[in-house]
Amino acid sequence: ELEASNSMLKAENEERKKAEQRMTYLAQYDDLTGLANRVLFREQLDAVHGRAERYGEQFALMFIDLDKFKEVNDNLGHDIGDQLLCHVGQVFRDVVRTGDTAARLGGDEFALIIGKVEQPTDPVMVAERVLERLIAPLSIGGHAVQIGASIGISIYPDNATTADELLKQADLAMYQAKEEGGNTHHFYVEAMQEEVKRLRGLERDLAAAVHDRQLMVYYQPKVDVHTGDVVGAEALVRWLHPEQGMIGPDVFIPMAEKSGLINALGDMVLEQACQQHCHWMSQGLPAIPVSVNVSPLQLQDAGIVGRIIGLLQEHNMSPSMLELELTESSVMLDQYNTSARLAELQAAGIPVSIDDFGTGYSSFERLSSLKANVVKIDRSFIRDIGQERGDAVVQAIIRMVQALGIPLLAEGVETREQLQFLQTLGCQQYQGYYYSRPVPADEFATFLQAGESAGLALAQ
Ligand code: C2E
Ligand code: CA
Ligand code: CA
Repeated sequence: ELEASNSMLKAENEERKKAEQRMTYLAQYDDLTGLANRVLFREQLDAVHGRAERYGEQFALMFIDLDKFKEVNDNLGHDIGDQLLCHVGQVFRDVVRTGDTAARLGGDEFALIIGKVEQPTDPVMVAERVLERLIAPLSIGGHAVQIGASIGISIYPDNATTADELLKQADLAMYQAKEEGGNTHHFYVEAMQEEVKRLRGLERDLAAAVHDRQLMVYYQPKVDVHTGDVVGAEALVRWLHPEQGMIGPDVFIPMAEKSGLINALGDMVLEQACQQHCHWMSQGLPAIPVSVNVSPLQLQDAGIVGRIIGLLQEHNMSPSMLELELTESSVMLDQYNTSARLAELQAAGIPVSIDDFGTGYSSFERLSSLKANVVKIDRSFIRDIGQERGDAVVQAIIRMVQALGIPLLAEGVETREQLQFLQTLGCQQYQGYYYSRPVPADEFATFLQAGESAGLALAQ
């Protein structure tokens, strides 16, 4: 009897031990990826820090934030999102050496502690290996998935001597990498602190700016290559910040996309552009279409089609007078599942042009099925006109698009030589500083009043 109760006790003990082990595991490891969790990460960081202090060693702290994880999660579901995170966990396990720590800090944020850094190239090599692995296209549950990562690095003791300081710096450096468009790594440098503070401040101010009408719309003429007539206007948004002055859209559009403000911001630009078109018409100026840049995130909003059609009716505008510009990268891969909504807008008679053409992945088939009204060749190609290779590339792009019967517009034309080259190739329209920078609406009206003579005078 004694023996029986003894063995029961033993079994109970075993159970308890297993449960305890499981608890300890859960308290220290991330259940999904099997990496260290926040708690263990902090313990390891303090341990590595203590050792480095004692033996005068260097180590690196790395913050990694996945790019585009939210899109995958939102569009393909949490199941796929979880599988993706598991894959990322495996990448980190593959990349770190024994003794280093890979941790998941939460959501799509990860961290690495690289012990025993001999020279700055050590963490760079790790960061590059991580990026290379994370950028690679994947297939998860039958879906093609591609993400990226932004990596921030701080080094003990070069950047800071306390763990808390190092953490803050790796985070700032990561933020900077993200601001630069992701898929890159960044070391912490002191000057960064100010810049990141400024950008974080802007992010906070942006919501108020959208509602307080600090955003304004400038217009850049679209010009006929052969006649020199102004044949369209592209709306380009600017932010007149009360303290920091004029801020360009390259800075705040990505912020608005991240925070979800892009819908309110985009609606405001659409409305102002329609109003402006009406106003020019009421002044008896020639009717030219206004183009508005649209973020693919705006097309994810189910209400967008109704709102745009409502705007046109409200302003008594023909749909052909409002043109939407979508970047090549946003429509080609269609990671955002926006093609149905785009087709609805086109069916309503609204022209669509493909912006920044040539910079992303492009498929001949998709391009021809898109029924784009205009293809806009990216500025980077126009810049290289005059160099042998540059000329050949522009020529090839133009021939390809012409073969599909789609009219072309060249962006960023700055010189007469560029314009002449485009004339000989049969490109129909252009935009660029050669004719005019983007200008406030009333200044734009003078182009319409005076026709081509005003434009050419300005260009000289
Ligand atoms: P984008 O649509 O490619 O617009 C053309 C950009 O090139 C504009 O910059 C314009 O000022 C600039 N540009 C025009 N001609 C020349 C030239 O001859 N030389 C040079 N170097 N640059 C020239 P901007 O206004 O800073 O706009 C940057 C980007 O921000 C735009 O690129 C567009 O993608 C985005 N954006 C602007 N307004 C909006 C908006 O209302 N909504 C959204 N979603 N994006 C916008
Ligand atoms: Ca554009
Ligand atoms: Ca463009």
